[in-house]
Amino acid sequence: MGAHASGKSSVAEAAVAAAHPATPLELMVECEGVKGAFSPSSVTVRCRCSACDGPAAEWDPAKWLAHCGLSEHRNWRRELRVFLHTGEMFKVTAKHAATQRDTQGTFVTANGGWRIVCGCAACGGAVAFSPSEWETHAGATARSWNRSIWVVPGGGVPEVPPGAAPLRMRHFFALFGLKAGRSPRRDSPPDLIPLDQ
Ligand SMILES: [Zn+2]
Ligand SMILES: [Zn+2]
Repeated sequence: MGAHASGKSSVAEAAVAAAHPATPLELMVECEGVKGAFSPSSVTVRCRCSACDGPAAEWDPAKWLAHCGLSEHRNWRRELRVFLHTGEMFKVTAKHAATQRDTQGTFVTANGGWRIVCGCAACGGAVAFSPSEWETHAGATARSWNRSIWVVPGGGVPEVPPGAAPLRMRHFFALFGLKAGRSPRRDSPPDLIPLDQ
């Protein structure tokens, strides 16, 4: 079962990579309120602040911490927060462990938090959860939201276009060579941890 599931995920990842052959993968990050795009392949951050523009916007991650007002001696992997298309929304789904029924939700990244607005009949689109709370609410039992919450193809994430296979959140992060680390608060973005650590 586990092997089958991970096999399916590799197929999904290959499909995503094939759909975007020339697009270097970048992950939106934030530090002290400054937004940037982290490139795992070059280990650089392209700053999106108003002072940085063009080629000058490429920073070594530690230097970028200093640019954002932190000490560059801090661990940048712990300081950079992952943002998913900040201020936007995308569709997610989670499967109930017993009934296998899917619950639909809308992942919202706004105001520095990660929330999921539940689409189940009981919630009626009026209740927002942290990712781990929503995992429980939907009846998924992985106790790891980035395993049990799936990105819906064509639901607003460019890396998971219409026609692609659904992608677990953890495999979404893996596309960038990362895994989700601890979150400082329940509903805030996780630390940025390279997969090989
Ligand atoms: Zn800047
Ligand atoms: Zn609900």
